[in-house]
Amino acid sequence: MEIVTGNLGWIEVICGPMFSGKSEELIRRLRRAMIARKRVQVFKPSIDDRYSADEIVSHGDLRMRSDVVSNAGDILPRIDWRTEVVGIDEANFMGPELVTLAGTLADAGKQVLIAGLDTDYMGRPFSPIPELLALGESITKTLAICMRCGNPAKHTQRLVDSHDLIVVGAAGMYEARCRRCFEPGVPKQQELDFLHAPAARPGRA
Ligand code: ADP
Ligand code: ZN
Repeated sequence: MEIVTGNLGWIEVICGPMFSGKSEELIRRLRRAMIARKRVQVFKPSIDDRYSADEIVSHGDLRMRSDVVSNAGDILPRIDWRTEVVGIDEANFMGPELVTLAGTLADAGKQVLIAGLDTDYMGRPFSPIPELLALGESITKTLAICMRCGNPAKHTQRLVDSHDLIVVGAAGMYEARCRRCFEPGVPKQQELDFLHAPAARPGRA
């Protein structure tokens, strides 16, 4: 059944930890919009230039051309009024203005697709995604595979020693972990090894 929406805009949020397929899912939806001959604009934050300066790139190496902005405030002036679908990747780097911007675009009849981390390296809700979950029409939560035990993983484990909220990095600096294996902050490797193999604990009789 076809849903006829006319010019009704809305907000779709794709959230989850790193490596959970958010960018893949965003690219899949944007490609389908292009196949449907909709006018699409894609944005990513300039802070994230890990894999490409002007493309969104998934860890499985799917790519899509995107405009680069320093924060959400730079998006509105770049919107072509004919655009029907607006994709935004790495939304957790876009700043708090993203909430108002997404509402403005949706109210103007645009389909707004947003992908971003829902929790930070400490496992806390990562603004502005929680606000967007409350205000949007559609939510997809993606899970990764826990790199320690293979269970579904909702956490982004930071592996490097830093307590800055934003440390841009990929494989080697972060990995996906399940609720049980997640260690907020930097992992204490020995304690984790003890949990998984009690007999191997150093200093134990
Ligand atoms: P995200 O945008 O959520 O960081 P991506 O869409 O960039 O995720 O990447 C998802 C891809 O990453 C998967 O299809 C898979 O090929 C790869 N991958 C690497 N590590 C993991 C993991 N621990 N769990 C799931 N997928 C992983
Ligand atoms: Zn685990």
